[in-house]
Amino acid sequence: MAIATINPFTGQTEQEFEAHSEEEVDRRIASAHEAFHTLRATSFAQRAEWMRAAAQLLEDDVEELARLITIEMGRPIKGARAEVLKCAKGLRYYADNAESLLAPEQLADPSVVGASAAGTRYAPIGVVLAVMPWNYPLWQVLRFAGPALMAGNTGLLKHASNVPQAALYLDTLFERAGFPEGAFHTLLIPASRVEAVLRDPRVKAATLTGSEPAGRSLAAIAGSEVKHVVLELGGSDPFVVMSSADVDKAATVAVTARNQNNGQSCIAAKRFIVHTDVYDEFTRLFAERVAALKVGDPLDESTDVGPLATESGRDELEGQVADAVAKGAHALTGGYVPDREGWFYEPTVLGGVTPEMRLHLEEAFGPVATVYRVADREEAVRVANGTTFGLSSAVWTTDPEEEDWFVRNLDAGAVFINGMTASYPELPFGGVKDSGVGRELAAAGIREFCNLQTVWKG
Ligand code: NDP
Repeated sequence: MAIATINPFTGQTEQEFEAHSEEEVDRRIASAHEAFHTLRATSFAQRAEWMRAAAQLLEDDVEELARLITIEMGRPIKGARAEVLKCAKGLRYYADNAESLLAPEQLADPSVVGASAAGTRYAPIGVVLAVMPWNYPLWQVLRFAGPALMAGNTGLLKHASNVPQAALYLDTLFERAGFPEGAFHTLLIPASRVEAVLRDPRVKAATLTGSEPAGRSLAAIAGSEVKHVVLELGGSDPFVVMSSADVDKAATVAVTARNQNNGQSCIAAKRFIVHTDVYDEFTRLFAERVAALKVGDPLDESTDVGPLATESGRDELEGQVADAVAKGAHALTGGYVPDREGWFYEPTVLGGVTPEMRLHLEEAFGPVATVYRVADREEAVRVANGTTFGLSSAVWTTDPEEEDWFVRNLDAGAVFINGMTASYPELPFGGVKDSGVGRELAAAGIREFCNLQTVWKG
């Protein structure tokens, strides 16, 4: 895959980039390694000042960056702008909270371990490699980089090959904000060169957000090197609507939960599991509102759904829907590639999905929702848990006992009740099963790339 900006709205290649040479990659690893020794010796207060400056730069550059996101991967401009501002907020969260999240802890009674004092502290570990996807080209990277740099680590970014200009913006962001040269570098390399970087002894750990095959490959290499990894590999999140739910509100939120970012979000609701008592009402409202979405030019402020980021992604989605329809599923709305330039797929709601269809088990990375009719909460949970994924989940019910029951029975990294899954700097984010290992964000996220050091004093 060429390292290039290819506008998904036109299919035109706007700019191509040369991959970094072996020597340049080595220079950047060395620089990140050197910078670690400088950065770890700085205070939280100093790093927080630089981190706030980085947040300010994002805000100053919001229009330029939003346009860049839209041109590189097709996200409608209003969402792209919101992504930039969310990144600034995320960096400020870690500027404000890193020190307390990483505060040392002391045993109340050290004599139980024969010490005069004993406890733990969080120490940074060094250079961390981040392999990142194109779907939120700034947020996916900065939710790693904010906590990593605040902890005193340095970062190397291998970004997706279709968002090189976002990668190059991030390459200089932290240095512009005051961090030492080398605190954060982009490596412009294809996926085939990730292995050599991860095996480099100066690189201590890795984080990857993306597809399952990419995650498995990275984890296998990291395992053979005894290096820690965090993986965030996508999902097929259930959105359960029970008979006591506010069906009108659930149907409105469902539209956004499925179609945000043109349906290309790991935490998008993908499977809508609806109690039979409210199935007809919910699917009617949901399909009507999906059909009303405005599909078009992502630079237009009024567009709800733009093109998919890549032609291969659009073709994959088209193949999944064709397979389902051939096996008996029916489109309540959409179900086709519109006759227009660009990598569009019409927002779709599919009923009648059965286990032999690919869409039943695979992630649909685009604006395609599947709806299932269920008789009771036991069946709802069976369907919800019936995939290899376990990222997040949403449940709509007004029965408090039922809320607790779903929270206890859903196999997912998160459960959202009467709302849509989203990521917040203040809450941990990550999955179970094939959706990944480890957590990003909040205290758990910043601690992933720290050495929890035990300190015992006699
Ligand atoms: P990939 O997993 O291929 O790409 C994500 C990142 O991993 C990119 O930087 C990519 O580089 C890199 N990469 C790919 N293969 C390897 C490898 N073997 N070793 C190391 N790094 C690798 O995602 P795609 O863009 O191809 O999307 C495919 C599917 O992945 C989607 O349909 C969706 O299901 C899932 N996905 C999930 C995301 C999420 O948020 N969890 C985000 C994006 C995709 P390069 O671009 O150079 O190939």
